[in-house]
Amino acid sequence: MFSGHQHSPWDYPRLITAMVGLYAFAGGLITLIGWAKDIQALTDWVNSGISMMPNMAVAIVLAGGALVLLSCGQARAATVLGFFTGLIGAATLFEHVTAINLGIDTLLVSRPWGQRGTLVPGRIGPPGSASLTIIGSAIVLSAFGGKNRRWAALGGVLVIGIAMLSITGYIFGADALFSLPRLTVIALQTATILLALGIGLVTSVPQVQPLKMLRDNSAAAVLARRALPFVILLPIVVGWLRLQGQRAGWYDAAFGTALRTVAEVALLIGLLWWAAAAVKAHEKPLRESETRKAAILNSSLDAIVSMDADGLIVEFNPAAEMMFGRYAIEVIGRPLSQILIPERLRVAHDQGLAHFRATGEGLVLGKRIEMPALRADGTEFPAELSINRVPGMEPPLFSGFIRDISERNRAQVALREAHELLGSRAKHLEKLVEDRTMDLRNINEALVRSLARQDKLTNDLRETVQQLETFSYSIVHDMRAPLRSMRSFASILESEYQDKLDDTGRRYLQRIMDSAVRMDALITDVLTYSRISSSETPLAPVNLDKLVAEIVENYPQFQEAADSIQIQHPLSAVSGNRALLTQIISNFLANALKFVPPDRPAQVMVYSETEAGKVRLWFEDNGIGIAPEHHGKIFDLFTRLHRLDEYPGTGVGLAIVKKSAERMGGRVTVESELGAGSRFCVELDAATGEKAET
Ligand code: ADP
Repeated sequence: MFSGHQHSPWDYPRLITAMVGLYAFAGGLITLIGWAKDIQALTDWVNSGISMMPNMAVAIVLAGGALVLLSCGQARAATVLGFFTGLIGAATLFEHVTAINLGIDTLLVSRPWGQRGTLVPGRIGPPGSASLTIIGSAIVLSAFGGKNRRWAALGGVLVIGIAMLSITGYIFGADALFSLPRLTVIALQTATILLALGIGLVTSVPQVQPLKMLRDNSAAAVLARRALPFVILLPIVVGWLRLQGQRAGWYDAAFGTALRTVAEVALLIGLLWWAAAAVKAHEKPLRESETRKAAILNSSLDAIVSMDADGLIVEFNPAAEMMFGRYAIEVIGRPLSQILIPERLRVAHDQGLAHFRATGEGLVLGKRIEMPALRADGTEFPAELSINRVPGMEPPLFSGFIRDISERNRAQVALREAHELLGSRAKHLEKLVEDRTMDLRNINEALVRSLARQDKLTNDLRETVQQLETFSYSIVHDMRAPLRSMRSFASILESEYQDKLDDTGRRYLQRIMDSAVRMDALITDVLTYSRISSSETPLAPVNLDKLVAEIVENYPQFQEAADSIQIQHPLSAVSGNRALLTQIISNFLANALKFVPPDRPAQVMVYSETEAGKVRLWFEDNGIGIAPEHHGKIFDLFTRLHRLDEYPGTGVGLAIVKKSAERMGGRVTVESELGAGSRFCVELDAATGEKAET
């Protein structure tokens, strides 16, 4: 509790109380046994002829028990024992004062011995009875608690004084101090036990003086604790030695007194020095902690301001000087509210302080609060402060830690504004996205609608084309009947009226017949073309080797030119339609044999290539070739690049080829230069499955 962590008896006052209580209890009991068993030595420990009286022994047992109970906190039970202790003392005192014998002195036992100093046999002497009265009253009174505990300390000190006087008398052999009947008679063991009881009384109330002071952590307490035992023992020891010397005849009274005085002065100086050193050592950590506290106070970034219970400033650190724009010397000792608190808040502050003084409770103590504070120039700033009561300070002292939070408040406001801005931006963005999404949805719907319309239009168109094709097919078909009658009448005319016509007439007739033949060819071709568009065209694997060979063998025009047609076997099988493939192959072969210069024998080569699931069937000739600008249109219906008398034809053949290829999911291409031959190709899916069927 004080002077570091070493333990000292001062730490355990209650233990001392208990121990001296036990000592008294045991001492009293032993004495009682002596009286009861007729053993004088147990009642007179130093064999002085002065025994502890039986009543005294009983009272001491009671008082010792009371102290033991007190040390255990049993104040009520202790009071009962204390009361009887006091009663014995008071009754005996009454006998001494009034000379009335109450008959209590020999109530227990009466022996002839041990009565050297007694006036009445068995009667406790005046110092003893007074001490018992004091001890008893002190125990009873202090049981009331609070300030009444002072009685225990006071009584204890008094008893210690009485006992010391008697004990010193025994030590110095001064009979007057312990053996005069009526006045001082007391047994040595009684005096020592009373001394112990006095100490026990004092230590039973460590909260009050003198123990309060002795157990304190102050330098004064250190000094007192150290000096006390010596101040008590030193004069006794020195005095005793001096007396022994004189009695031995070494020196006379005057010399002895001088010797004693010198010895005492020297010893007291030594004691003073030793105690002062102890105080100094004790103060060192205090001084260091003081220095540390000052350093903290001076370097703190927070303003630290302390105020006493009257509201006056007692401390003002450098940070406070900066913050408030005032010097410490200027504000210390002046009322805090007048200087640091804006006028409108002063009443509240003063009321708070008054409330604390009246009730001991502070509403703002230990809390973190925010309030405006006042600078020297009259401006205000927002401050955060926490006020605490400095522990252990009486009268109360308050210290406040103050922080200027203007910067923090500004940052908070900026942060809040940024948050709001961000929020509104986000909302704007959200709305934008929503609008755009809506626009997109509308556009998409319009697109879907327009696609549906397009679909319907395409369907309508396909239907119209279909109808048109059906219509033209029926017209072309119907044209055959009149053409046939034209041809048959023309041939009747030729056979029956030949001789009736002149050369011109015959030539005209021939012209009519040629036109009819041409017309028939045209109609046949157009009907073929139309059929291709309208007929079903199921696909199947087709063996081109076989098909091409069949076509060459079966068509008379190819049979004749078979030597000019060269086929590079094997030709890859394709997935196609036999009838459509026949159209394509015969048209390509016919064109290749037809479009050659008159002076050159035709040469045709047929071969195939397979690549990535596609088969390309090529027809390469050595004919007149086609200028590149015409490549695009020769596949159109009725397109011809030559006059009839140069190369006959209808201009439908390549249109049929193109249409047929498309019906099978394929396509046609041409590669050619004028005068350098041509190369036509039809591209179709390769046949799947093991083996082409036909
Ligand atoms: P036609 O053969 O009845 O004239 P096509 O549709 O078969 O009609 O051919 C269209 C035109 O393409 C031909 O008139 C011709 O000018 C040209 N052509 C077709 N095949 C060849 C070829 N192998 N060599 C040169 N020109 C060709």
